[in-house]
Amino acid sequence: MSLLCEIRSLSVTYRGQPMPALRDVDLDIHSGERLAVIGESGSGKSTLARTIAGLLPPGAAVTGEMRWPGGHTPVAGRDLGFVFQDPSSSLNPVLTIGEQVAEGARRHLGLSWKTAYSQALDMLERVHIPEPEKTLKAFPHQLSGGQRQRVAIAAALAAKPGTLIADEATSALDMVVQAEIVSLLDELVREAGMTLLFITHDIALASGFADRVAIFKDGRLVETGPTATVMAMPQEAYTKALIASHRDLFTPPLIREVAS
Ligand code: ADP
Ligand code: MG
Repeated sequence: MSLLCEIRSLSVTYRGQPMPALRDVDLDIHSGERLAVIGESGSGKSTLARTIAGLLPPGAAVTGEMRWPGGHTPVAGRDLGFVFQDPSSSLNPVLTIGEQVAEGARRHLGLSWKTAYSQALDMLERVHIPEPEKTLKAFPHQLSGGQRQRVAIAAALAAKPGTLIADEATSALDMVVQAEIVSLLDELVREAGMTLLFITHDIALASGFADRVAIFKDGRLVETGPTATVMAMPQEAYTKALIASHRDLFTPPLIREVAS
């Protein structure tokens, strides 16, 4: 796999904050991999995503390096698609689903409205919206949370980005819908050969499908490696504790029954 992004000694401090949100992070992101960024709230996960996307607020102090060996620095919205925890914050309540999914392709691919709109229909089909034609004309409040998140994914993918950053994209959903969205993301990135940065506080969810994990605590990268290796042989005390706290989730149901 070729290297998409090389992060070296990256530290980020927000204006007015005494402590850095990221400290001395070294991380490689490979093209086409599904990398899970895992950590508790406040560990710097979203800061990492914002730094990669060039979306830090003004005044944030950045030191260290971020290199893109394969090409130019990616443009958020075009080369990098984003899906957030709360689709209501990314979807506009007064625009139809069709208008919003078409917007990315119109703006970034230069498609006409008509072409972008018909591509939006295709996108809604790809994210398995049950009645895509009808949904194109619907407004966000007419959909369930899970359907809105599918729409947000369709909108993020409309400009055909090479990388998708899903920042706690399933955290507000119930467990069944969460599993559906994870499997959808997995399917879409495989189909398109996209790179996926799956950001979550949930190590069990991430380890179910990610190729590699990167564990963060207090702005530091604690440990990284192939998912199976880190899960089976965690090197750091924090990773061990994190895995232990989810022990029941890694125990097959049969063993759990016998043990209880
Ligand atoms: P996570 O996504 O893992 O919950 P964040 O990257 O959002 O973590 O936050 C890391 C740290 O940076 C936290 O201490 C948080 O309070 C702080 N932080 C995040 N965004 C801002 C901001 N815009 N201004 C000041 N501090 C921020
Ligand atoms: Mg966050």
